[in-house]
Amino acid sequence: MSDAAPQPQDAQWMRMALAQAEEARAAGEVPVGAVLVRAGELLATGRNAPVARCDPTAHAEVEALRAGGRKLGNYRLDGCTLYVTLEPCAMCAGAMLHARVARVVYGAPDAKTGVAGSVANLFAEPRLNHHTQVTGGVLAHECAALLGEFFRERRSAARPAHPLRDDALRTPESRFGLLADWPWPLQYLHDLPALAGLRLHYVDTGAPSSAAPAWLLVHGADAWSHGLRHLIAALAAQGQRVVAPDLIGFGRSDKPKKEGAHSPEGHVRILAELAERLDLRSAVLVACNAPWAAQLAASAPGRIAGVLALDLPPAAADDTPYPDAGHRAGPRALARWGGQSAPAGAAPLPMATTRTLGASPACLATPAAATALAHAAVQYFLPALPLTTTEQAPGA
Ligand SMILES: [Zn+2]
Repeated sequence: MSDAAPQPQDAQWMRMALAQAEEARAAGEVPVGAVLVRAGELLATGRNAPVARCDPTAHAEVEALRAGGRKLGNYRLDGCTLYVTLEPCAMCAGAMLHARVARVVYGAPDAKTGVAGSVANLFAEPRLNHHTQVTGGVLAHECAALLGEFFRERRSAARPAHPLRDDALRTPESRFGLLADWPWPLQYLHDLPALAGLRLHYVDTGAPSSAAPAWLLVHGADAWSHGLRHLIAALAAQGQRVVAPDLIGFGRSDKPKKEGAHSPEGHVRILAELAERLDLRSAVLVACNAPWAAQLAASAPGRIAGVLALDLPPAAADDTPYPDAGHRAGPRALARWGGQSAPAGAAPLPMATTRTLGASPACLATPAAATALAHAAVQYFLPALPLTTTEQAPGA
């Protein structure tokens, strides 16, 4: 007996199985879910859990059958219907036949391991006990979409990253797992000439063609872009485009092992190329304790049109990007450049400091303080900046 027609309540139970599949996905398992129903009532649920249980048999169907058997106090599950989002494999089909499940209803077919018709049809095999009716294709599209999405995500996560240079380190992404207040996608560049193969991480809240005024936020020697998160959010909330890189040697960017690999000029070159690549125009450079900010402004004419120098007290140590001292060559090098002054002849630009804008020294520490700083900075700079193009002038 097999290939029974769908019944009116099938879709409703399959939705419940899909909810189990969603839970499996949330737990990092292949999203397959099952529910076991008897006499129109839910008896048990199961979701795929081989990874969490270190158990190759922990398929959704087996989990549901086990829970159902415990509930009934019987390994025979006569009269039960098992709903599962994916066509059962040979193991699960065998378990259902042993349990004498009356009917199995599945969603998506499984061309690789399905034995309800795809690879084989154990339920139709006359030499086996065949009490189990089969109905396939119930909510097949939803069930397959969930699986497809899961595998697409997993493939893109597994795609090989840009290779790491031999003389550099890369902080494992797992170190950053629990960061608060970080809604932005991770973006990387490695093909700017000044990067010489190193991988740079940056935040960009706008599209490269965005007409919004741009702000280039550069962290200080004791920080990385995460310390700027409240200001990034506050400026973006005011309709500004914000770009915030991790300098090479900091945050999620690659970290050359030797302090000698770091120089102010090197960072300036990279930032100027970044501004070029992201097509920043008339941007305000927000530089934290960065005496070389004016140098950057001078080397990216047209790209940087104003400088906000934040003079901040040293931030509390944040070890997140630095699993060990070997990763800290960048911060060590940058900390030594504090005394350097701006080059002579730098272009006169609108400048402001934390003090000019009346901001507190803790202006990056809370969303409220960052919002106040963002507001003051927008008020100060926007009227002073050359407009990118005339048609983008507000009210023009
Ligand atoms: Zn299975």
